Amino acid sequence: MGGRLLVTGGAGLIGSALCESALAAGESVTVLDNLSSGRRENLPDHPRLRVIVGDVCEDALVGSLVRRCDRVAHLAAAVGVANVLARPTGTLRQSLLGTENVLRHAAAARRPVFFASSSEVYGDAGQEPLHEGRELGFGSPEMLRFGYAAGKAAGEALALAYAREYALPVSVGRFFNVTGPRQRASQGVIPRLVKQARAGGPLTVHGDGLQTRSFLDASDAGEYVARLLDLARPGGILANVGRDEPVTILDLALRIRSLVDPSVAVAMAEPRYGPGFAAIRHRRPDTTKLVALTGYIARMPLDATLRACCAARPAAPAVP
Ligand code: NAD
Repeated sequence: MGGRLLVTGGAGLIGSALCESALAAGESVTVLDNLSSGRRENLPDHPRLRVIVGDVCEDALVGSLVRRCDRVAHLAAAVGVANVLARPTGTLRQSLLGTENVLRHAAAARRPVFFASSSEVYGDAGQEPLHEGRELGFGSPEMLRFGYAAGKAAGEALALAYAREYALPVSVGRFFNVTGPRQRASQGVIPRLVKQARAGGPLTVHGDGLQTRSFLDASDAGEYVARLLDLARPGGILANVGRDEPVTILDLALRIRSLVDPSVAVAMAEPRYGPGFAAIRHRRPDTTKLVALTGYIARMPLDATLRACCAARPAAPAVP
């Protein structure tokens, strides 16, 4: 292949999986990451990998990196409800300014872009699989958590506007609960429960435990991003990125307990963020469009992902 890929947020969960697959495919990869939630250890030492510690809001830096690459995967964002509630203005600023920087420089240099959006843009939409044509439905900005969804929805609109007005090749992926051994406990329910189980419990299940999520392994997410970036085109495309295997959070806790230590307790607790916080009850992707576009069906079933998450943390990956 031999192309030059720029990955913003490349030291994070999904970005590092994308970097691994791009390096294995022969590409040269530059990562731009401020290491706020990502880790350098998520990435291998590799002669074709360069890691720049910096922020996507740094206009001149983003411009020079975009010009020196062939394609851009824009994944950098403050992720996780707890982080978003702790730094609401920072989350939105990075989301809006960072995405605008990447798109403007990519349009000037004619570089295809993948933009990482989120299923948060659908809001709380029931148990049916969510398809891309559905109207967006996140809540009032009076609830700070929806700042993240609002930032992602604005990023989508901006990416598709560049794709139409400037014929910039763009693809947008709406991720549904991606996870894996590199995810931080502050950013996902699976690493949080694994951490509690390793510490001797109890595993805390908030609410009635019957809320559902569908999880996609980070390695599959990386593969989908690579394929969607290949498909980026003027006018833009947009697809869900997920795996349709819903599980209740209670069942998840029981499965993690049986993998780590069947003797630890599972404790039911009050809803995590208290009254006034709009918890999302169900979230499930319709993956018809994703599979039709990419020709790829996620390989890692939930059980395999859980086994990997419950095993000891792997050392930095080796890429051939
Ligand atoms: P992550 O936190 O592991 O990765 C995000 C990376 O971006 C981190 O390495 C972080 O250090 C970096 N970063 C954050 N702000 C930055 C900034 N201003 N400048 C440069 N780097 C910055 O999270 P992830 O799960 O890999 O998420 C990747 C993308 O996918 C994000 O845009 C996220 O919103 C989106 N997403 C993820 C999920 C999920 O379930 N994991 C779901 C929906 C959307």
